[in-house]
Amino acid sequence: MTTNDTTTTTTVADEHVHVEDVPTGLLIGGSWRPATGGRTIAVQDPSTGAVLAEVADATPEDGIAALDAAVAAQDAWAATAPRERSDVLRRTFDLVHEHTDDLAALMTLEMGKPLAESRGEVVYGAEFLRWFSEEAVRIGGDYRTNPEGTGRGIVLKRPVGPVYAITPWNFPLAMATRKIAPALAAGCTVVIKPADLTPLTTLFLAELFRRAGLPDGVLNVVTSSDAKELSAPIIADRRLRKLTFTGSTPVGSALLKQAADNVLRTSMELGGNAPLLVFDDADLDTAVTSAMQAKFRNVGEACTAANRFFVQDGIADAFLAALTAKVEALRIGRGSEDGTTIGPLIDGRAVDKAAALVDDAVERGARLVVGGERVDRQGTFYGPTVLDDVQPGSDILTTEIFGPVVAITRFHTEDEGIRLANDTEYGLVAYAYTSDFARGQRLAERLETGMLGLNTGVVSNAAFPFGGVKASGIGREGSHEGIEEYLETVYVLTPDPFAR
Ligand code: ADP
Repeated sequence: MTTNDTTTTTTVADEHVHVEDVPTGLLIGGSWRPATGGRTIAVQDPSTGAVLAEVADATPEDGIAALDAAVAAQDAWAATAPRERSDVLRRTFDLVHEHTDDLAALMTLEMGKPLAESRGEVVYGAEFLRWFSEEAVRIGGDYRTNPEGTGRGIVLKRPVGPVYAITPWNFPLAMATRKIAPALAAGCTVVIKPADLTPLTTLFLAELFRRAGLPDGVLNVVTSSDAKELSAPIIADRRLRKLTFTGSTPVGSALLKQAADNVLRTSMELGGNAPLLVFDDADLDTAVTSAMQAKFRNVGEACTAANRFFVQDGIADAFLAALTAKVEALRIGRGSEDGTTIGPLIDGRAVDKAAALVDDAVERGARLVVGGERVDRQGTFYGPTVLDDVQPGSDILTTEIFGPVVAITRFHTEDEGIRLANDTEYGLVAYAYTSDFARGQRLAERLETGMLGLNTGVVSNAAFPFGGVKASGIGREGSHEGIEEYLETVYVLTPDPFAR
């Protein structure tokens, strides 16, 4: 343990919250160390711009050192009893819950979301640890007679090998556990690179894994201000066997090209452009309450955020009025202040993007119902906004907003609603509100999406397969499918044991 070393831990605090002993180094082979050359990255609070901590800025050599550690630990970890891997995950689950306040505080400070949402993310993120602690002991196989009756096939599963995981800034805990937990459960070792905007949560999580007894080198953490420079040599290294990424589609696509050279297994959880359909027969309260969650959870900074609202004519006025009332009641503030429901966006670029999308939509004929302005206070805030009658061709219909903006288009028939919903290159999640179950079934069969929230506003759950179709990605996280992403299938043929 080198966690008491002042060069590798710090205290992160503001006037409301305070977290001690947050690691700031690189975790390589079981010890925390500074980056070679000692460079650091400043981590900022987006609600004030204040520097919260300086974390190590890894060089490409540090990245390869982390891979060396993962490779060195791979065989021993793969050989552990499934129950041993399960127990480490379960102990980490318990530690994450014990440190709910610390992890929530870190997420709120480095990412900006309200504390209540950060606590919600601790519960959600921890579930992957519990779920995959349970899956670790249920890795299956097969034994069957071949169709000719002349042999027996045995199918077994093996860990794919060392994994490189790259995670985004919007769900600092859950994006890490969603990758680390199934990889460890399967018997893979991991190098993880969190986003440089929000590394503190992952660093703290890694420390909890250590305290839970995870052997040295099984989980390694590298932080860098130059993700490409750090990642390219790791992805090109023949010893790496798997790349798992959550982030934007352009970066995912570039990573897939790099992974192709090394024929890596990949899981890609990429961008979304979620449609949210409200039908005339929807229960209005359910639709409005769920739509608020689907849109404003995480200040809209989620790949699952409802991006395009399609509302049927007959309910449109009532839906707009009820939704607008709720939007006007949202409270802007620092995430660590009581009562805040809308925190800052992650940075100034995110604010510029939301503002440009709203301005473009209004110029093309949308009606601004509420909001549409930057917030005049310190930090990177954009006011919650509702647009009605968004016109075809508006950028907001083809761009992931990642901000607190509702963009409503009205439609007439079910077919038209489905056509509009599918008119995107993305296919991560869709939301639909209807009291007609057969319509719900039709939507499930016709919407081009990996997930559908039917009369609900949040679909994420560790027990179900999270992932998209089309440009939204490849592979699934959570559920039994989640562990398969980290397993290889090996098939053995043997002769008929009764043949003489
Ligand atoms: P976002 O727009 O949500 O920040 P990105 O796709 O840019 O999404 O980033 C997601 C993660 O991918 C972050 O950890 C970031 O550092 C990393 N990343 C960005 N570009 C690259 C790259 N060229 N190679 C490897 N990782 C990258």
